[in-house]
Amino acid sequence: MDRITLKAYAKINLGLDVTGRLPNGYHTVKMIMQTLGICDEVTLEKTAKGIHITTDSAELPNNEDNLMWRAAALMQQTYRIPGGVLIHLVKNIPIAAGMAGGSTDAAAVMRGMNLLYDLNIPKEELMTLAVSIGADVPYCILGGTALAEGIGEELTSLPPMPACYLLVAKPDINVSTKYVYEHLDKAQALQHPDIDGIVSSIKNQDINGVLSRLGNVLETVTVPAYPVINTLKEEMLRLGAEGTLMSGSGPTVFGIFRDLPSAESAYIQLKQEKLAKQIFVTTPVQTI
Ligand code: ATP
Repeated sequence: MDRITLKAYAKINLGLDVTGRLPNGYHTVKMIMQTLGICDEVTLEKTAKGIHITTDSAELPNNEDNLMWRAAALMQQTYRIPGGVLIHLVKNIPIAAGMAGGSTDAAAVMRGMNLLYDLNIPKEELMTLAVSIGADVPYCILGGTALAEGIGEELTSLPPMPACYLLVAKPDINVSTKYVYEHLDKAQALQHPDIDGIVSSIKNQDINGVLSRLGNVLETVTVPAYPVINTLKEEMLRLGAEGTLMSGSGPTVFGIFRDLPSAESAYIQLKQEKLAKQIFVTTPVQTI
C-alpha cells in the first residue's frame, strides 16, 4: 500500500471535571469523551524520506508545529521506519475549539503510518506511545464513548451513549486552553459535575440521566469571560435542545436533541442569528 486516507473524528465532553494538579503542572481530570461525526480527512503517501505536510487550512502550520508532524516523527523514530511520508489534511473540525482537532489528526497519522508501513502495532501500544504528543491523543486512537482519567490518558471504554442528535456551534472567538486552566486554579467553590452518575446513566442507556448531569467545570472560567457561550447555550435550549454544554476548554457549545427534525430546525434558526461562525448537526459515532 502506497497511499491511505483516514477519517479523523472530533470529540465532545459530556462531562469534564478537574480533580487535582500534578507536581509537573498538569491537571488531573475525569471526563466523559464522545466521538462525533464531524471529521477531518488525512491522506498519507509513502515517500523516500522525510515528512511533508500540506493542508487546505491557511491557519495551520505545515512544519514541526503541526501535531501531525510530531506524530509522524514519533512513528518513524520508534519503529525505525526506513521511508518518509507526505501528509495532506482536509480540515473540517473547528480549530482551537475544544474538539481535539489537532489530537485527532495526530492519532490518524499514527494509525495511518501503522497501516502504510505494515507495522501491525496493536492499538494499545499506539495509545501508550501517543500520550507523548498530547493527553487527548490516546483517546483519539481509541474513539467511541469513554471515561478518561489521569491527565486524560487512562481510558475506560463505555457502552455507546444513547442515540441522539447533536447541534454543535463554535462562536468566532479564540479561547486559550492555558488561560482557562490558569484561571480555574484561582476559581473557588467549584461545582464538580457528577461524572460517576454520567457513567451509570450511559450504562443504563438513560438519556435523561445523562442530560441532567451534563457538566463542565471549565465553564466556571469561560462563561463569565465570554458571554457568547452562555447566550449560545440559552439559545439552543430555547430552540428545543434538551441539554447543552461547552466542550473541553471551549468555546464550542453543543446541544442534545432527541430527533433530527428538531435539531435541523434549530440549526437553521441559529445560522440566521450569527452567534456562531461554524455550526453542524451531527450524531455520536462509535467506531473509528
Ligand atoms: P483540545 O480539545 O485537545 O484542547 P482544541 O480543539 O482546543 O484541542 P486544536 O484544534 O487541536 O485545539 O488546536 C490547538 C492548537 O494546536 C492550534 O493553535 C493549532 O495551531 C495547533 N495545531 C497543531 N496541529 C494542528 C492540527 N493538525 N489541527 C489543528 N490544530 C493544530
